[in-house]
Amino acid sequence: MNFQFGIPSFVTFGEGCTDGIGEMVQGLGGKRVFCVYDKGVKSAGIVDGIVDKMKSAGIAVIEYDKVLPNPPDTLVEEAAELARKADIDVMVAIGGGSAMDCAKAINILLTNPSPINQYNGINLVKFPTKPLIAVPTTSGTGSEVTAFSIITDTTNIKKMVIGGQFVGATFALADPLLTVGLPSKITASTGMDALTHAIEAYVSKGAMIPTDVYSLKAIDLIFNSLAEATLNGSNIQARTDMLLGSMLAGFAFNSAVLGLVHSIAHPLSAHCGLPHGVANAVGLPHVMAFNAEVVPERTKDIALAMNLDVAGLSPEDASKVAVEKIKALSKEISIPSLKELGIDKDIFPTIAKDAIAEISTMFNPRSATEEDVMAILELAYENVEETVKV
Ligand SMILES: [Zn+2]
Repeated sequence: MNFQFGIPSFVTFGEGCTDGIGEMVQGLGGKRVFCVYDKGVKSAGIVDGIVDKMKSAGIAVIEYDKVLPNPPDTLVEEAAELARKADIDVMVAIGGGSAMDCAKAINILLTNPSPINQYNGINLVKFPTKPLIAVPTTSGTGSEVTAFSIITDTTNIKKMVIGGQFVGATFALADPLLTVGLPSKITASTGMDALTHAIEAYVSKGAMIPTDVYSLKAIDLIFNSLAEATLNGSNIQARTDMLLGSMLAGFAFNSAVLGLVHSIAHPLSAHCGLPHGVANAVGLPHVMAFNAEVVPERTKDIALAMNLDVAGLSPEDASKVAVEKIKALSKEISIPSLKELGIDKDIFPTIAKDAIAEISTMFNPRSATEEDVMAILELAYENVEETVKV
């Protein structure tokens, strides 16, 4: 047995765990922090309390609030320039995947030369980065514990995957209370992203026993709490299970990598501007059905992890039930189809071509052609529900 497994971040999980952030920065020898977030997180009232805790510990905090979804390379360059001029020694990211990925990319440019685009790939960052504390406010990306930063290359209209050494956050402070005010639409889409991470990591060609353990527990936690967290956001138990599940999924895919759902989602976001979670949610059941042809046993494991009553079914039939339950969950939490999102089918050939070129396609258990992706996009367009007869 051979494998490589790692998690870049030291994790602190629990209600109120950001209370000690000032002391944490002090412990890192930090005096000047560059704090990255977006305007939505600020207006939700999450930022000020955390910034105040650092300030009361005598730390100067330079705030950067311009983070955008699917963060563009241009924004990273601009923010890195500000951070360099401010002579900061610790980075803090507060927010979802966009804020955390942005902070990781900015951090790279504090000790490595611009432009950020030259680091698209794995282990291309040569010099160690400064300490980065990631505070997730969504239960989706898992970026607080992964060694990846996903940044949009605005020249070539594609998503870069910058990964490997020196990219991940040093510390993750995961407080479920910070996710309680998350709007239901964002809870739904980011949660489907997390579920996709767990499922893709489990069927990935890069899966291994350590990632399997995290994937299956993440599938259980996320599948069984996402609807409740979406429809009743003040349920702390559901919020806790979602944040834990998304983090465990991050542990898994950081080493097992992802698959065809993400390969299709990245160009869908780059060309059509879809939020990452929605772009994954529309493709997930259709790619699962496509993959189940070659990994039926693993897909049955997923169904069992979802706590579905499939123990007595064949792997093929259990897989069908799992796919339909994912579709039903999407419907329950109001994930739209590509048609409802107003996507023009004329873009499908471009999406298919770009999807095949994505790194994660290599890790998908079933090899895929552009025609296969076109067929999956057609299914995701209408998101037709099929009746399962098992
Ligand atoms: Zn994702």
